[in-house]
Amino acid sequence: MSYSLIEKRLTKGKTIILDGGIGGELQKIGAKMDKGLWCGRCSIDSPDELLKVHENYINAGADIITANTYASTPISMKKYGYQDLIVECNNKSVKIAKEAAKDKNISVAGSVSTYGYFHKDGIDNMKPSFDEHIKILADTGVDIIILEAMSSQAQIVETLLECSSKINIPTWLSISCVFDENKDVNLGYDDDINKSEPQIYENLKEAMKKFSKLHYGPVLVAHSNINVTEEAVKILKQNYNNKIGAYPNRGYFVKPEWKFTDKIEPADYLEKAKSWVDSGAQIIGGCCGIGVEEIKAISVLKN
Ligand SMILES: [Zn+2]
Repeated sequence: MSYSLIEKRLTKGKTIILDGGIGGELQKIGAKMDKGLWCGRCSIDSPDELLKVHENYINAGADIITANTYASTPISMKKYGYQDLIVECNNKSVKIAKEAAKDKNISVAGSVSTYGYFHKDGIDNMKPSFDEHIKILADTGVDIIILEAMSSQAQIVETLLECSSKINIPTWLSISCVFDENKDVNLGYDDDINKSEPQIYENLKEAMKKFSKLHYGPVLVAHSNINVTEEAVKILKQNYNNKIGAYPNRGYFVKPEWKFTDKIEPADYLEKAKSWVDSGAQIIGGCCGIGVEEIKAISVLKN
């Protein structure tokens, strides 16, 4: 489906449903996980399971499904020795998502993330990889590119935005948010994976001033704790003059099992989602650990 229907619905003030996390659902139905890339190779190793996950989200009420390209970033694939598969793996992921969406008025998004990037890599070294990933996905003809920044540094988000300005596809920005010790909302996220990484948090309000100069499409609070989401959505509403949304995590990963430590019932997730919609979010879904049941629950907010 072209982006125009989504745009029309957003302009009319309607609520759009995104899918939930892909990796967790793939894991649940027994797809093959890679040690380094996690679900990043599933388009090659477990294509049937990947198709099934997309179909499950569509049946649950998602308007937009996201191709499984979040973990197949060029930098990550190179790190784990899959440099020859970068294009093939990403192309297959989009192909499978498109197959699931075919003839169903569902949009397909491509995810460009910072998966596999570390602060020590340096921003200059991230740039060619962002460019490469964005170009591969743009060439597949996805309807939307979602930049899943997951970063505590505004500069990394700005770099992603600069890279995405070279393509002519609707681009959404998702940012991770976290409370600091004063309960102020900052860019960044807490998890057990990157404990060795410096936690450089930047104030969300200040960061939005920078992003507003580079980005005009929707901004979504994602890959963030559910508890910070409502406050972050409120800050976006007051400080960003375009569409906003939310698709947080359920808990954190605990490596190497990739288990989700927090639990939330679908009905409780719906209550949370209502609060984000009341605060101005028009696009809602889920990230890590939020699955088909939760998306089904929040799909009643579609209008
Ligand atoms: Zn996440």
